[in-house]
Amino acid sequence: MTAKTAKKARHDHRALGRELELFGTDPLIGSGLPYWLPAGASVRHALEEYVRAVERRAGYQHVYSPVLGKRELYELSGHWSHYRDDMYPPMDLGGGDEGEELVLRPSLCPHHALIFRSRAHSHRELPLRMAELGGMYRSERSGVLGGLGRVRAIQLNDAHVFCTPDQVVDEAGAALDLIRRAHTAMGVAATRYRLSLPGPGGKYVDAPQAWRRATALLTEVLDRFGLPYERAEDEAAFYGPKIDVQFTDAAGREFTLSTVQVDFHQPERFDLTYVGADGAKHRPVMVHRSVIGSVERAMAHLIEVHGGAFPAWLAPVQVAVLPVSADQFTDAAELVERCEELGLRAELSDPGRGSLGARIRSARLVPYQVVIGAKEAVEEAVAVRLRGGRRLDPMPVRSFAERVREMVRAHSTELWS
Ligand SMILES: [Zn+2]
Repeated sequence: MTAKTAKKARHDHRALGRELELFGTDPLIGSGLPYWLPAGASVRHALEEYVRAVERRAGYQHVYSPVLGKRELYELSGHWSHYRDDMYPPMDLGGGDEGEELVLRPSLCPHHALIFRSRAHSHRELPLRMAELGGMYRSERSGVLGGLGRVRAIQLNDAHVFCTPDQVVDEAGAALDLIRRAHTAMGVAATRYRLSLPGPGGKYVDAPQAWRRATALLTEVLDRFGLPYERAEDEAAFYGPKIDVQFTDAAGREFTLSTVQVDFHQPERFDLTYVGADGAKHRPVMVHRSVIGSVERAMAHLIEVHGGAFPAWLAPVQVAVLPVSADQFTDAAELVERCEELGLRAELSDPGRGSLGARIRSARLVPYQVVIGAKEAVEEAVAVRLRGGRRLDPMPVRSFAERVREMVRAHSTELWS
């Protein structure tokens, strides 16, 4: 193996996923259907909670909707005629329900459109921001599947903003802002912004005026932010153009992590309305947006970018506590408990696991490594070693734990400041 391929292997999320016990697969479950091990599930949970919290603060309301829907639902949304090749075949229920066909959903939009339609809305309620971290399914050929990059069952960080045409630019802009803040917290950097437009052929809904309008709105958003972008033909959603935030994986392949889309089509198909200030019914616009895209792909990228050394707020274990000998076991256990009370993920690495040096090596990816010897136990102080080797001056137990909590709460990519 050359140095270059060795480096590449280190940054391949599949190899790291195995080595760090983050996720796995089993041929009996099937390809493209990974499961999460406890360490990976911790990272994923922290990521999902972060997204939900920033969405709540940005005025989104969360819903849950089922991963199945009747075939007619997707005929109405347009997925059946424009997106069928990527969908699983319908399931005929049989029994007393012959002819009723259920489909694993290819997206969350149709469910959200129906939730919006379930009651009347006044213009005063708009923009109405509906979010869900929900399952969706894509029928991919097994040959293209690999690790978390392309999977058949996807957890999508999705949201739909139902708004007036006048609100589209502000809402899409606010979504881009949320996206850029999330990238900073995750410690990842976009390769480029892409304005994804339709191409020739029947893949896209035939409504030239709506395409022109939607494209003009997204162009206005990009110009307002002063973001350089490239136009790309034949990359739009079937229902509308997109701003795609592109990233590059360890193998040099480009992929979309975050997206903002403008859709005049589905509101029309689902006959969505709100009552305007004039008392008449009006058609809302749907802004589709995803901050981190699919959780699987976001996790793959985080693993590759950080090589397993996640920012503290994402780390599976944030604080490793290492008593020098069994005499400091009680003090170490107390520190773990104090950290856990503050909502931190802490782990005691007891002397039974090996020499102090060996335990420090095996905790090398943990952001905060705390060694407790006889001196520290007596003085109720801790000697902290940051990931990467920097040593801090000894400090009282309480100030250490509270400081770490503040760094984690701030979703900082710095370990100490
Ligand atoms: Zn959507």
